Amino acid sequence: MTPSTAPPASGPARATRRAPSLVLVNTGDGKGKTTAAMGTALRALARRWAVCVVQFVKSGRWHSGEVTLLSSLGAQCHTLGDGFSWESTDLERSAEMARRAWDLARRAIGSGEFDLVLLDEVTYPINWGWIEERDVVATIAARPPHVNVILTGRDASGPLIDLADTVSEVRKVKHAFDAGIRAAKGIDF
Ligand code: ATP
Ligand code: MG
Repeated sequence: MTPSTAPPASGPARATRRAPSLVLVNTGDGKGKTTAAMGTALRALARRWAVCVVQFVKSGRWHSGEVTLLSSLGAQCHTLGDGFSWESTDLERSAEMARRAWDLARRAIGSGEFDLVLLDEVTYPINWGWIEERDVVATIAARPPHVNVILTGRDASGPLIDLADTVSEVRKVKHAFDAGIRAAKGIDF
């Protein structure tokens, strides 16, 4: 293979500022939003940070391995979602569960008790109008200075992107699911 570019001769510009905390958004239609956020939670735990994880969509029945592991490492984890909307038989109940999850998340952020609060799949209840985007944005904007927040989910809205310091879009190049392959234990949950 012939190389297409030469290695860069100079490094990127130097960063000089330190932020008291950051807001991160992992969005896009590819695989890796939640796992990247959980990986960051692992880093945070390695630094002895207090970590809170709130899962908005997956139900308690959908035990994901990473949440068990993060809990055993000291993270406070809450799985309050009602599963995927297309599996729900009672959307009003799903909406109510999402509101309860947000209520808990809002208190976790505002309390200042945590160094990192992870709002997993929060974009869905926001985009479906189940929780107020304005409230989410205002709560995060007014958070205690040391509280870092990570939001995940597809189709992160403009106001969330504006609010965040770092936004990553995971783009699907290929996904096994499209070839009819089921979610795999150890890889997908
Ligand atoms: P992961 O939890 O693996 O990091 P994710 O958070 O980026 O994935 P979600 O949209 O939350 O992706 O999807 C939840 C589940 O659906 C995961 O098991 C994931 O592997 C799978 N998934 C992710 N992207 C796609 C896709 N483009 N098509 C089908 N399934 C997907
Ligand atoms: Mg996810």
